[in-house]
Amino acid sequence: MLSFDIRSLASKAVHVDGVLAANDPVWQDDDTRPCTPVHVTGRLSAAGADRYYFSGRLEGEAAGECRRCLTDVTVSIAEDIQLLFVEADTEGADDPDVYVIDSRAHELDMRPALREQWLLAVPAFAQCRDDCKGLCPTCGADLNAGACDCASATDSRWGALRNVRGQSN
Ligand SMILES: [Zn+2]
Ligand SMILES: [Zn+2]
Repeated sequence: MLSFDIRSLASKAVHVDGVLAANDPVWQDDDTRPCTPVHVTGRLSAAGADRYYFSGRLEGEAAGECRRCLTDVTVSIAEDIQLLFVEADTEGADDPDVYVIDSRAHELDMRPALREQWLLAVPAFAQCRDDCKGLCPTCGADLNAGACDCASATDSRWGALRNVRGQSN
């Protein structure tokens, strides 16, 4: 549950402990969706009239592709987040950093804001491991699995050069 009754929020803070599922309708077509439900924990409370503040954390896993070797990787995401929800047509509602909520709504639905925070947290480039060797630019072989023939071709050229040098000495 990531929707909260606005009227009761005004009088009492709530402890948030919910999940945003990978198949939630809030996700859009081009989104990097989580591969497991995103776990959201924290505290949501009124922060003056017509505004609500959330401070907490989101955690989940995103599927990506290593930018060097293109294998599938799972990226763990854990972000501390602070969100300010402001009712439309009130002071501060035009601030780009706040999330505007419909002043006629009975519920504060955190999901659109959480979706945005998730997308900001997902790294643009993933890497399977720090020392990934990547793919050979010539033949496309995965160099993590071992050197390809291109590498040995280079070696034999160097070898030939060494032989030439050896003869000249
Ligand atoms: Zn890699
Ligand atoms: Zn190669």
